[in-house]
Amino acid sequence: MVRVAIVGSGPAGIYTAEALLRHGDISVDVIDRLPCPYGLVRYGVAPDHFKIKSVARALARTFDSPQARFLGNIQLGRDVTVSELRSCYDAVVYAFGAAADRRLGIDGEDLAGSVSATSFVAWYSGHPDEAIDRYTLDAEQVAVIGNGNVAVDVARVLARPAEDLRGTDVPDHVLKVLSASRVTDVHIIGRRGPAEAKFTTKELRELGELTDVDVVVDPDELVVDEAGQAAIAADANVRRNVDVVREWAERPLRGLPRRIYLRFLLRPVRLVGDTDVTAIELERTRLDGGARATGTGEIVALPVQMVVRSVGYRAVSVADLPFDDGGGVIPNRAGRVLRDGRASPGEYAVGWIKRGPTGVIGTNKSDATETVHSMLEDLEGWPRSEAGSEALPDLLAERGVQVVTWAEWLAIEEAEADCGRLLERGPVKIAEWSALLAAAARRH
Ligand code: NAP
Repeated sequence: MVRVAIVGSGPAGIYTAEALLRHGDISVDVIDRLPCPYGLVRYGVAPDHFKIKSVARALARTFDSPQARFLGNIQLGRDVTVSELRSCYDAVVYAFGAAADRRLGIDGEDLAGSVSATSFVAWYSGHPDEAIDRYTLDAEQVAVIGNGNVAVDVARVLARPAEDLRGTDVPDHVLKVLSASRVTDVHIIGRRGPAEAKFTTKELRELGELTDVDVVVDPDELVVDEAGQAAIAADANVRRNVDVVREWAERPLRGLPRRIYLRFLLRPVRLVGDTDVTAIELERTRLDGGARATGTGEIVALPVQMVVRSVGYRAVSVADLPFDDGGGVIPNRAGRVLRDGRASPGEYAVGWIKRGPTGVIGTNKSDATETVHSMLEDLEGWPRSEAGSEALPDLLAERGVQVVTWAEWLAIEEAEADCGRLLERGPVKIAEWSALLAAAARRH
């Protein structure tokens, strides 16, 4: 039996495990920094996206196999080094994604009230790294910078009535803050035009379906240049996005209590304020015919008390792993990790750490297929480990690391169901490290 460790239990990691298990003679340990599996399915997909979240049920089935183990609460680089991990397995697959946020690099970015979508999403998703009192939502006007699906998620969660989220697994402290939120206006700011936006149309449309929320679009900002016209002709998603915002631009406002503004051709240049954000300055841009935006020098000031930058994720490197800073990925060829330009035997990458932070959950399936294809082609040439299946758990036990197994994760799930029952809700996420680890330990 060949033994493989996969670092990261998000969709990319688990799809890789599933494909390897189909091969038969391979056992797989899926390792995660958190005591909970599923990566961004649990801590990124918005709580009201039930259908996407239900992918977790399919991912869970992978652990029905006696050849698959989940080993949670293990951080690569802190609890175990890359070379120690490699010595315990015949092959290692890095699937730890892109956990950090990208910055705007403008003045005022560190004022109070300026936050990353990565942090805000993690907070409302009950991620244990985010303090439960991190957000109060005293702001009335919020700017969300970026035209991707994360910006849409953030705007929707900020604008939709908190009561809508009672039927989800958001932690109770999040529901309380959202219920008391003073937010009335959310401005989604794109630096290019509607044809360049990265939204998927299904997600974009949802903004127009929220109760109590008017969507506001200025028709003068719906500029489509030659490159945009070509994109509309070539890509149905782009065409539908442009159709949707054009329709909204014509729709009469209904005088509803909250508004989402979709703004285009505005580039953030400065956040204004002494200690707290009071406004954002944006420079009007124009498209150059090739879908690039150039500044016009015209500055527009928007009064806001909160700015959420939603301009993409960024991967963080781990000691002893090669890392391409520019691309934010582990250098690889079809998933084979490259050290000094050569494929390193028995080392692979998959998911966002392999290809960058793009694509939807399903994209990871084909990505995993490619990496597993490379792995199976190379299998005979892997350096074989002498270590047994307990080598890693034993090493971690010596170091006092509380490894969370699949059975212990199921105990966390039970505790979340209990927590929900007390609150007369469905399962409610436990959001603190100590409580998660205590729930895992309760199994014993
Ligand atoms: P994204 O799709 O890459 O969008 C990032 C946005 O930020 C782009 O509009 C980009 O504009 C803008 N941007 C970057 N730097 C900027 C700057 N300095 N100033 C102003 N704007 C800037 O990233 P994301 O929204 O974080 O999403 C990551 C991935 O997860 C995507 O593949 C997304 O589809 C996926 N996702 C999917 C779902 C879903 O399916 N429901 C939900 C959430 C996330 P430019 O184009 O001009 O660079």
